[in-house]
Amino acid sequence: MSMDSFVHSSLPTRVVFGRGRLGQVAEEAVRLEGTRALVLSTPHQRPEAERVAEHLGRLAAGVFDQATMHTPVEVTERAIATLRSSNADCVVSVGGGSTIGLAKAIAVRTGVPQVAIPTTYAGSEVTPILGETEDGVKTTRRGPEILPETVIYDPGLTDTLPVSLSVTSGLNSMAHAVEGIYARDGSPIHTLVAMEGLRAMRDALPTLVHDPADAAARDLALYGAWLCGTVLGAVGMSVHHKLCHTLGGSLDLPHAETHAILLPHTIGFVEETVPRQLAPVAELFGGEAGGGLHDFAASLGAPLRLSDLGIAEADLDRMAELATANPYWSPRPLDRDAIRSLLQRAWSGERPNTLPEEAQQ
Ligand code: NAD
Repeated sequence: MSMDSFVHSSLPTRVVFGRGRLGQVAEEAVRLEGTRALVLSTPHQRPEAERVAEHLGRLAAGVFDQATMHTPVEVTERAIATLRSSNADCVVSVGGGSTIGLAKAIAVRTGVPQVAIPTTYAGSEVTPILGETEDGVKTTRRGPEILPETVIYDPGLTDTLPVSLSVTSGLNSMAHAVEGIYARDGSPIHTLVAMEGLRAMRDALPTLVHDPADAAARDLALYGAWLCGTVLGAVGMSVHHKLCHTLGGSLDLPHAETHAILLPHTIGFVEETVPRQLAPVAELFGGEAGGGLHDFAASLGAPLRLSDLGIAEADLDRMAELATANPYWSPRPLDRDAIRSLLQRAWSGERPNTLPEEAQQ
């Protein structure tokens, strides 16, 4: 057995996991030397934010419930004004990537510590990455000050996640793990974490589709989301994330659905070049990584066609141009024609051809 050389580093998040752990939020805020905590949520999740505030007790400084998609700077500024007027010295975010993004945007500007309480599988809570928008322009930055200090994973908060979002958000998390396996800066530990995350999601999501209230499957899915998110936070992403950012940003597409639809196609694209690296993923999904992920997504009732997101076929040429103009590193170079044909298949929802011809014989 041979071992490639590698560099491994991991991030210093404190993770508290388990049903009922939400009750520990005050203790976790105090651990970060917080004396007054502003709770953040979307308008839709205000009831959850109020529950968090109840658990915070005398530490609660109020609820700011205006978190929204794409982390607009204008919303962040209003949240910071509330933080200041309520004399808060830490933030607690309860929600998906949008709410956690708001907490990161506040933290990076004010230095206040964050407790993140995720309620989807997007994984933002364990990454030092922040995407924001101002005047319609999206910028992304990375830095240790962005990473939440503490994450409370209480699977009870995911029991309300609708089946459709559970599936697309779950596939979104799996995308982080698969891309981590062939990342240029990957390591054997990140690969182990990625495989464990993928296995957890593969086992949990089919159960959740049939019984969204199945507690054991909810617990397993959130555990998987943590692992997959950890990989996203630690290593560089590649062609899949590049395409999702290009399409999502240019055409204003929903985040989780875009990931879910593109995943089998982008992984199939890479698998043609590095089938051996993706062999463990192929093994998990019936012998092929890309095709297997397509069959898995279809079995969950996930959206399979970019056309269902309202994308016109005429947009595909421009998307292929944009995605290949300033590409991320990829194990398979982003050739414009190959990306255009990948997008065509994803647009019409065809099963990707994933194995190189010699391996199919
Ligand atoms: P989201 O945060 O936008 O949430 C979608 C909707 O679902 C919201 O209305 C929310 O209130 C609701 N919701 C969330 N959890 C719920 C629950 N348990 N029950 C009922 N409703 C619930 O969705 P998301 O997919 O988690 O996050 C997407 C955003 O996060 C994107 O903007 C993406 O760019 C960002 N993101 C960032 C990173 C990062 O590392 N910076 C990683 C992943 C995602």
